[in-house]
Amino acid sequence: MKSTFFRLFAAVSVLAALSFSMKKDTADLEARAQKIHNSIISMDTHTDTALRMYRGTDPAKLQVTLDKMRQGRMDAVFFAAYVGQKAWDDSSTQAAHDIVEGTIRNFREYAAQHSDEIGLATTAKEVRDLKKKGKLIGILAIENGYALGRDISNVKKFYDLGVRYITLSHNNHNEICDAAVAEDNPKYGFTKEPRWHGLSPYGEEVVMEMNRLGIIVDISHTSAETVEDVLRISKAPVMASHSCCRDLCDHPRNLTDEQIKAVAAKGGIIQIAAYHGFLAAKEEDANLQVFCDHVDHVKNLVGADHVGYGSDFDGGSGITGMEDESKAKDVTVELLRRGWTKKELRKFWGGNVLRLMEQVEKVARDSE
Ligand SMILES: [Zn+2]
Repeated sequence: MKSTFFRLFAAVSVLAALSFSMKKDTADLEARAQKIHNSIISMDTHTDTALRMYRGTDPAKLQVTLDKMRQGRMDAVFFAAYVGQKAWDDSSTQAAHDIVEGTIRNFREYAAQHSDEIGLATTAKEVRDLKKKGKLIGILAIENGYALGRDISNVKKFYDLGVRYITLSHNNHNEICDAAVAEDNPKYGFTKEPRWHGLSPYGEEVVMEMNRLGIIVDISHTSAETVEDVLRISKAPVMASHSCCRDLCDHPRNLTDEQIKAVAAKGGIIQIAAYHGFLAAKEEDANLQVFCDHVDHVKNLVGADHVGYGSDFDGGSGITGMEDESKAKDVTVELLRRGWTKKELRKFWGGNVLRLMEQVEKVARDSE
């Protein structure tokens, strides 16, 4: 009787000590994470928040707000003006263009009204300068080159409005290129079959114009043939702003190991998304740990110079442990637990994106 009591007492004591040390470990890691975030720039390369703001979504329902950025230690967010793919005729294309322009102008107005808290950046230097001033940072982007219509001068028009990356397509093929996910859709005249087998002749012009001006080419959403064409034609490194690894989750939107290696070989970056469908076969299996598995997969394959964070918040993403931007710093805690160094975390969070921006800016300067 006595020995059973002591055995039970010992077991409980061991468990209590274990849980205390785990809590202490987590507290230590959280303190380290906070300290690291004091001296790095963190960047999220993909959110669809700007369109929701343009549509008048209740701010309480947004996954990215200035408060949530501050809570998550997120310095800079790319706000993409997203537009879904519709028919290829001129009036539908013009409507898409107008939505994107409206979204961009609306966000510019918002940033101007909150200029004491957030500034818009168009270069890596402006990102660094705004961080030094203690400001949050917004960078404009377009998700779906469909918004350019068939008019190449629109690339410059959007560049002048501050756009610094364009995702060439969304789901379904457009004028520029084929997409990774496509369907037969008689309403819009879509076909699942490839339309161009990569970039169209106009798409090639668009990529060259983006290089000339200094806009990052985003290959997320595009087909494998498009990725090949872009890597062949682009003079600057490219980005997958929100994609995950096919090797860990067999989704057509995810990148194969060969594609990850090809993007990295050209100096590009792969930004992991917090979207359940790209992370795991079953929605309930997607969580912060699985997100970090995808991050580690890219790191193990091509190194910490080529991986980062592109949440896709307010665009259908959000998983257990990464429900919104206020949780971003928890990724740092998990990566520290996995042995990531401060130097690697600096690259993951923003160093790689800033390097890419500088390279894209240099290609533009050199083509003057
Ligand atoms: Zn997307």
